[in-house]
Amino acid sequence: MLCPPLRCFYVYFASTAKPVWKGIDHSLDIWHKSKKIPATLGPESKKVKYRPLIPWIKHIANHFWFCCRNCKGNTMRLRDMWLSCLSHVRNVHVWMTGNCKHTDGPIEPEGKDWLVYGSPAHNLLK
Ligand SMILES: [Zn+2]
Repeated sequence: MLCPPLRCFYVYFASTAKPVWKGIDHSLDIWHKSKKIPATLGPESKKVKYRPLIPWIKHIANHFWFCCRNCKGNTMRLRDMWLSCLSHVRNVHVWMTGNCKHTDGPIEPEGKDWLVYGSPAHNLLK
């Protein structure tokens, strides 16, 4: 079963936490998760409808590391930073509750096409 990386980051962990583990601090294996991002998106993106996602995969995995490194242990901040890539890949860098953390100025997708909201590639990423 396909587990989209962005969604499973929270949902998977919350849904699998057994009641007996309540009250125990859970942690995320960052290395394992970072490997799962390309391992999940890579094979799926070979389908024609998901191909626009291919050039973004490496950057999305790097973004995950960036988020983990810069969230200062705050899980809500980690979540917000992580989900910001859903906007960034669409060339949206400022939104109601925040903005991307990259420097100001013109943003070039550097050999990638921006994803379109609601497109199959963007939906897969969600
Ligand atoms: Zn951005």
